[in-house]
Amino acid sequence: MIQNVLSSKVFAHRREQLFALLPDNSVAMIYSGAEKARNADTHYPFRTDSSFWYLTGFDEDEAIAILHKKSGKLRYVLLSKERDPLKELWTGRIIGQERALSAYGADEAYTLAQSEKILPLLKDMQVYVPQRQKDVFLNHPHFAPFITEHDLSPMVDEMRLIKSQEELAVLKRACEISAYGHKQAMLAAKAGAYEYSVQAELEAAFRREAGCHWSFASIVASGANACCLHYQDNNAPLKAGDLLLVDAGAEYGGYAGDITRTYPISGRFSPEQQAVYEIVLAAQKNAIANAKIGVRHRELHQQTCEILIQGLLDLGIIQGEVNEWIESQAHKQFYPHNTGHWLGLDVHDVGAYEQEGQSRMYQEGMVITIEPGLYLQAYDETIAPKWRGIGIRIEDDVYIGAQGGVVLSGDVPKEVDALTQFLASRN
Ligand code: MG
Ligand code: ZN
Repeated sequence: MIQNVLSSKVFAHRREQLFALLPDNSVAMIYSGAEKARNADTHYPFRTDSSFWYLTGFDEDEAIAILHKKSGKLRYVLLSKERDPLKELWTGRIIGQERALSAYGADEAYTLAQSEKILPLLKDMQVYVPQRQKDVFLNHPHFAPFITEHDLSPMVDEMRLIKSQEELAVLKRACEISAYGHKQAMLAAKAGAYEYSVQAELEAAFRREAGCHWSFASIVASGANACCLHYQDNNAPLKAGDLLLVDAGAEYGGYAGDITRTYPISGRFSPEQQAVYEIVLAAQKNAIANAKIGVRHRELHQQTCEILIQGLLDLGIIQGEVNEWIESQAHKQFYPHNTGHWLGLDVHDVGAYEQEGQSRMYQEGMVITIEPGLYLQAYDETIAPKWRGIGIRIEDDVYIGAQGGVVLSGDVPKEVDALTQFLASRN
């Protein structure tokens, strides 16, 4: 379930915006998604397709939205499941056609079995579907002959990339709830606890705040586990001398928070851990300070790589010159991922990263993550043993505002002093 915290006007406005982008005599179709089986007759909790939700606010599987533009006139049609008291007794309320009209702004609403009623709307029209959903439409008993190469995604993706003030407020709340969860996790992350018990505190905090679910599977990685970027086991005991990396976010109103913090389980960094931590922190603060209108996404990554490599050189962990490391791409051994990604309804949100063959410039209304890291693998014999097994990432969520970057996820300690003070409060 997505908390419906935006008014139906917001969704109507988005449909109008898309309508303006569509060529005349065209139809946009988008699918909400299907329930996915987990095992036997058990399903994963359903999560509506983000672009479908963005345009409709209609949170149900098996629905299709149709936006029809002919002679400058918009028709909005919803196809969705039929109400059925017996089914609803088992699996909950079905929205149905009546409410599709009265509460969701549809001009016409039909059941899935009535999908033939849509066919006259598709005849002689350019039909746009998200190409990632093409198979769904090609497998549909009636729609297949109308499906073309016209891709709906770029239009909707560009709309989603620039956040309105209403959605920024929701996204900010998602970040605040994520921040609260991270602080609860810090309080629980003592020696003798387990990665999963920290995860339990983190996700309980998400759940307590407006019933939030996570926005992606939480990464709770202690010691060298932190050197695996998408570590998922979350089952190791926490050891006093190790660091703990937690990369997690809450989903609120459909929007994703995405925060990473890395901190000492004992409450105090070892000299080696602190030295590496301070490099990552410096790189992160530099990137936040430079995340502003007109800066290219790639430039920020370039600067970040330079700071990280220079830091490793200064500590004597590696030898050589910064530009040699970057030119040969050998730095990917320690920093294999990008410095950030778009953030929104999807944690790795939509929107092109390149325009006209160049890395994209930041524009007002974009939201990005900034998440440099350094990963010194436990098995890496090219570095001295004392550095091995240290994995650090620090991630915040940043809104590109008119006056510069605004950190939305700031309320979790990350300065060394603030962190050690906060961790000392556990005793
Ligand atoms: Mg993350
Ligand atoms: Zn991220």
